[in-house]
Amino acid sequence: MSICLELENAQVGYTNGFTVSGISFGAKFGTITGIIGPNGSGKSTLFKGICADLPLQQGAILLDNKHLEKLSLLEKAQKMAVVTQFTDKYAISVEEYVMLGRTPYRKPFQMFETATDRHIVEHYMKLTDVFRLRHKQMLQLSGGEQQLASIARALAQEPQLLLLDEPTAHLDISHQVQILDLVQHLSNKLNIAVLLIIHDLNLASEYCDFLVMMNEGCVFVKGSPEEVLNYKNIETVYKTLVVVEPNPLSKKPAVFLVSEKMKRQIDK
Ligand code: ADP
Ligand code: MG
Repeated sequence: MSICLELENAQVGYTNGFTVSGISFGAKFGTITGIIGPNGSGKSTLFKGICADLPLQQGAILLDNKHLEKLSLLEKAQKMAVVTQFTDKYAISVEEYVMLGRTPYRKPFQMFETATDRHIVEHYMKLTDVFRLRHKQMLQLSGGEQQLASIARALAQEPQLLLLDEPTAHLDISHQVQILDLVQHLSNKLNIAVLLIIHDLNLASEYCDFLVMMNEGCVFVKGSPEEVLNYKNIETVYKTLVVVEPNPLSKKPAVFLVSEKMKRQIDK
């Protein structure tokens, strides 16, 4: 499997402010890479560097073997798509919203979408199960449906790299699983590299092929879920007592929290 996105000792950040530095990892086509780490550890900052919303201060970020800063805005939009945490609340229909994903493919002075654009939009609305909602307003959708529409819009860009910043935040467990099953299916079927910021360590363990654990603006540890999600790493980074046992079905590490009351009972 070849590498889609490669970071080599990358440093990005806000001018005179927070930076993430020394970031090195690769995201392969057809796999899901999870970025985990406590609040404020720099996950979203790193994402902004990868989207080129923040400038690269040091090192290199390569997308499909090309330096990110050498790609035009249009090339970037054709190669990567971003699904952000808070879905944009547009007063437009789902179909119109998903069609926005085709914008990078418009020819100069082209006012309307082509038959190909319409075909692609329909295809991804069906794949994400929002085709039935296509005439509804985005504002009328539930959080889970908005997230699906947002993924459909990103896919309509036909990217090689899909970036998702906490796509399952604020969703109930059935919608969390629905979104992540879909993302997993898409990465396999379309051979897309997925980079996912995810808070839930158990979902990260279950769905990600590779994990990057951030702490205080640096990569604390990276590797398979088994390599990253042990109690020592989690306790060091999250400053929280946990028990890690294999999930009975998948055998992936599952993380259990320990209450203060239970801690006192153990200490006795
Ligand atoms: P995470 O996504 O891991 O929770 P962030 O990357 O959002 O963390 O934030 C890391 C740090 O960057 C925080 O200390 C935050 O205050 C700071 N930060 C976030 N946004 C900005 C900004 N627009 N300007 C300056 N600093 C920021
Ligand atoms: Mg964040």
